[in-house]
Amino acid sequence: MKKHIAILGSTGSIGSQALEVIEKNPDLFNLEVITGGSNASLLIRQAIKHRPNHVVIADERKYQDVSDALSGYPIKVYAGREALSEVVQIDSVDLVLASMVGFTGLYPTLTAIRSGKNIALANKETLVVAGKLIHQLSEKFKVNIYPVDSEHSAIFQCISGEDQNPVEKIYLTASGGPFRGKSRKYLENVTKEEALKHPNWSMGNKVTIDSATLMNKGLEVIEARWLFDLKPAQIDVIVHPQSIIHSIVQFEDGSMKAQMSLPDMKLPISYAFGYPKRIKSDQARFQFMDYPNLTFEAPDIKNFRNLAIAYKALGQEGNSPCIMNAANEIAVDAFLHGQVGFLKMSDIIEETLETVEYISDPDFEDFIVSDREARKVANQLIGK
Ligand code: MG
Repeated sequence: MKKHIAILGSTGSIGSQALEVIEKNPDLFNLEVITGGSNASLLIRQAIKHRPNHVVIADERKYQDVSDALSGYPIKVYAGREALSEVVQIDSVDLVLASMVGFTGLYPTLTAIRSGKNIALANKETLVVAGKLIHQLSEKFKVNIYPVDSEHSAIFQCISGEDQNPVEKIYLTASGGPFRGKSRKYLENVTKEEALKHPNWSMGNKVTIDSATLMNKGLEVIEARWLFDLKPAQIDVIVHPQSIIHSIVQFEDGSMKAQMSLPDMKLPISYAFGYPKRIKSDQARFQFMDYPNLTFEAPDIKNFRNLAIAYKALGQEGNSPCIMNAANEIAVDAFLHGQVGFLKMSDIIEETLETVEYISDPDFEDFIVSDREARKVANQLIGK
């Protein structure tokens, strides 16, 4: 039985790699839907090459281009944000890969859960913003959420077969990013080009900057809290610059299980798509003598304050992670456009958290309002 897959965000880094996984395994997977934000030319090329049944371009101004280019193919073309939520409900879809970047991924993911579709979750912001809601809905609609983030995939792989055994704690590994070990003085003047050079992983711009600031790890701590139903105190972060151990679970007998491999996102994508079956792959294998030393160090939360900010927001719960996420999206965008320095990003996030009204038990509408308000405040702080 083939799995029929919808990819939300096929033009991004994860989405493109997911298409490769599907292409290599035509006996296991069938591509039903691809969607893109505004990159019409790539979306068209993907559609012609991979032949999904449905294509959505979120940017309605690009509809005509996409529709004209695909007019000779048996592919239905839609446009607009609402269409994203419609295509995830299509009967033939079994699994939705949520790989859109940022807050915009939340609503289509919620819709997919409500229509009973299993989720392969790459959009960590979804769980950061509305972890509690997603957790409740996935139980209500009996939907499985398979993590695609490499760290969470590692945890998921380590707890597989351990249903009887409570997790004592987990260690999320962090590469430390391109600026590991750098001083505050150095960080003041780093450029976006330097920040975009990740030592181990090739990823989209947003997550690469988040990795450089350690916000990525902060978002992942919150993501882990909801995916695995853990208390914040059970989640620790350890810097592991080689990115070979993708995360570690510690059980109540003191035993620790780790998942290792060369860093390649196609592995966690394949695991989420194929679960519970592992998919044979021809990716390069880890060679011990290429990495005679696997090392570990504590994260530097004095100079990379975002990780501490994320723990604080997680402790506050309510709409704090939502506010933090929105302020971070604005701050990262401003950094990428050369409007703020590297260290200023943490200031913007902290000040936005202090300014936007706290809501202890937010519903979906509250998230929309908090997100909008946080973006406004963050933009004001930047001077936009
Ligand atoms: Mg990750």
